[in-house]
Amino acid sequence: MSNGKIMAEYIWLDGRKPTAKLRSKTKVINGPVRKLDDIPMWGFDGSSTEQATGHFSDCMLKPVYYVQDPINKGDNILVMCEVLNADGTPHVTNNRHILAAVAEKYQDQEPWFGIEQEYTLYDKNKPLGWPDNGYPRPQGPYYCGVGFGEVFGRPLVEAHLKACLDAGLAISGTNAEVMLGQWEFQVGTAGPLEVSDQLWIARWLLLRLGEDYGAYPKFDPKPMKGDWNGAGGHTNFSTRPMRETGGIEVIKQTCEKLGQFRNQHMRVYGAGNDERLWGGHETMSYKDFKYGISDRGASIRIPMDTANKGRGYLEDRRPAANLDPYQICTALIETTCGEGFNPDNYGWGNFDPSK
Ligand code: ADP
Ligand code: MN
Ligand code: MN
Ligand code: MN
Repeated sequence: MSNGKIMAEYIWLDGRKPTAKLRSKTKVINGPVRKLDDIPMWGFDGSSTEQATGHFSDCMLKPVYYVQDPINKGDNILVMCEVLNADGTPHVTNNRHILAAVAEKYQDQEPWFGIEQEYTLYDKNKPLGWPDNGYPRPQGPYYCGVGFGEVFGRPLVEAHLKACLDAGLAISGTNAEVMLGQWEFQVGTAGPLEVSDQLWIARWLLLRLGEDYGAYPKFDPKPMKGDWNGAGGHTNFSTRPMRETGGIEVIKQTCEKLGQFRNQHMRVYGAGNDERLWGGHETMSYKDFKYGISDRGASIRIPMDTANKGRGYLEDRRPAANLDPYQICTALIETTCGEGFNPDNYGWGNFDPSK
């Protein structure tokens, strides 16, 4: 743009409960931006986002990560922000600063993540492709399907994939899912803060492009009741010792420990996840725990390739589509690399699976 001015889209998470929603607004700043420090702090009215009361409503936006804006292009940018209180301390809804501290503490273990984001595309109040009355044909042909009447929403899905690539996100693929109207994309492999910030930006891009395509994604773990697959956020995870020779033993030890801390983990794995994790549709009930090689009915799957090579990663199949990656990565790192995850340390977790 002219005069060295660029558009910076400031993106943050609001105070919605039980699941935060994305918010954003545009600031015209001096560009081009070369580093994070070039992007100024900003503020917003927290009383409109469930983050403050009307009397004392200013919250601050602290830029923490940015990418090129793949929609407006040029020098324009998308900026992921942490929310701070007016005095500069982290806001109670700011989960990122907790992950930042945990990631730094255990950085010598070099944790990597790849998150599979499932979602359901809606048009008005039913998933894309669903009839106005009744149901579509039963599940079977839709997973990785192709053809008119078999998949719905591909123009948006492709535009989203291209936008993520143009933004430089570590997006690794996309596929149509088991339920009609359901899709998936994967972000990673990347470190904990990177994968989390990128997942939020990828979700923002999907919501934003959906405005142009007349569809919107829902991250609901069980959007359609009955014999229809839920939507998950399988989280693939490894540390350096897991990726090295003999890593399979470290992976098995980690699975045992994840079993011990299963209730603590489930508390932050997404609101409404108990409806999805019922024991069918390639899930294990949230009340049980098991891990297994190549087992898509387990809580944790050790991929075949990892078992064959004797090193690699594990797939935590429990997180729901509405997961907060800052919380999931914190939980996995603390249980694997530290003493074990406790959501009470951070005031996290609305759902108690032991009840
Ligand atoms: P699925 O067979 O479960 O559908 P996907 O291909 O959708 O698997 O996703 C696999 C994910 O695993 C990708 O996001 C990828 O980045 C991630 N991944 C691969 N290797 C590792 C690793 N060593 N550590 C962590 N994640 C990994
Ligand atoms: Mn997948
Ligand atoms: Mn999937
Ligand atoms: Mn998976």
